[in-house]
Amino acid sequence: MKECQCAICGATFMARACSAKYCSDECRREAKSQKHREYNQRPENKEARRKYYRKYNQRPENKEAIRDSNRKYTHRPEVKEAIRDSNRKYRQRPEVKEARSENARKYRQRPERKEADRAHHRERRADKRSAAAVALMFGLAAGGEA
Ligand SMILES: [Zn+2]
Repeated sequence: MKECQCAICGATFMARACSAKYCSDECRREAKSQKHREYNQRPENKEARRKYYRKYNQRPENKEAIRDSNRKYTHRPEVKEAIRDSNRKYRQRPEVKEARSENARKYRQRPERKEADRAHHRERRADKRSAAAVALMFGLAAGGEA
């Protein structure tokens, strides 16, 4: 028997040969998960994993399952609340506010929007006119705005 040192916890232990690197099952497990972590963090493995999941996620049967699981997840009350919160924070960032009002402006300037706007105002004027007519019919004041 030889006295060996555990590569994980540093404890000394007796073994037939110091090819035994760990003092216990616990340290062996720890060593394994360390290796795993190291493996997962190497850039080439990260990239391989990304590729794998990209392919995986694109299979129709998986897409459906992913959608389902996401739906369930985002419907949980605490998750809903967190999403609302995060969206609120996002919208309040100055650069986002700026981009949003810019977008809104562009949107309003699209020809079909302008037309819709005009139609909307035409309708409102017509509504006001008929409201005024009704008010007159009933002998009421039209409310200053007509
Ligand atoms: Zn150990």
